Amino acid sequence: MNKKKARGSLIVLSGPSGAGKGTIHKELLAQDDNLRMSISMTTRSPRDGEVDGVDYYFVTEEEFKKEIKKGSFLEYAFVHGNYYGTPKAPVEKDLDAGHDVILEIDIQGALQVKENNEDGIFVFIMPPSMRELRDRLVKRGTESKEKIIDRFKTAYKEINEMSKYNYVVINDLVELAVKKVQAIILAERCRVDRIEDFDLNNQEELIHELLVDFNK
Ligand code: 5GP
Repeated sequence: MNKKKARGSLIVLSGPSGAGKGTIHKELLAQDDNLRMSISMTTRSPRDGEVDGVDYYFVTEEEFKKEIKKGSFLEYAFVHGNYYGTPKAPVEKDLDAGHDVILEIDIQGALQVKENNEDGIFVFIMPPSMRELRDRLVKRGTESKEKIIDRFKTAYKEINEMSKYNYVVINDLVELAVKKVQAIILAERCRVDRIEDFDLNNQEELIHELLVDFNK
């Protein structure tokens, strides 16, 4: 029999702040038992309701830099004045166990993963329009005016990087965007190069046995 490769796929979800990656990410995890999330490390302070070890590992800049030196990150980047990084070991462990792993990371980080992991699936989440993006950032109400302006300017630059991704999903309706990313993951799981080679000898033996049975 041909089996699926034991190792899972790495799915990288990114796009500008306010594009709705977080919501899509949560829905994907809720609807797919085989999917695992990666918990990033950051030097940013927790927002109201965020829990250490659940939303992020919140660390000091000194602790973060120590982890960089140890080579603990699959990728890391300096985003909006803070460090963010993906701890490598848990991701590798989940992939080796056959789970697909989803990373919700910024574009600089995604491009680092792309350089080192040709097998990743890179999905860019787009807001329906820049006006809608600005309104979402303002409505979220978690950031100061200066930070909103910074995120909006970065978003504008980031959209130019879209062509480096494999897929783009416009998030105007969350349910539809989730379905599109699910379809991408499903299609990737069916790719011929993700299937182990047929054991031709076994197949020949099996065909022979089946023919013998058939002739009895
Ligand atoms: P926030 O502060 O809103 O939680 O995240 C800010 C940005 O950092 C978002 O674009 C988010 O995707 C990105 N981010 C979160 N975790 C990581 C990570 O581990 N690595 C990188 N490169 N970016 C991350």
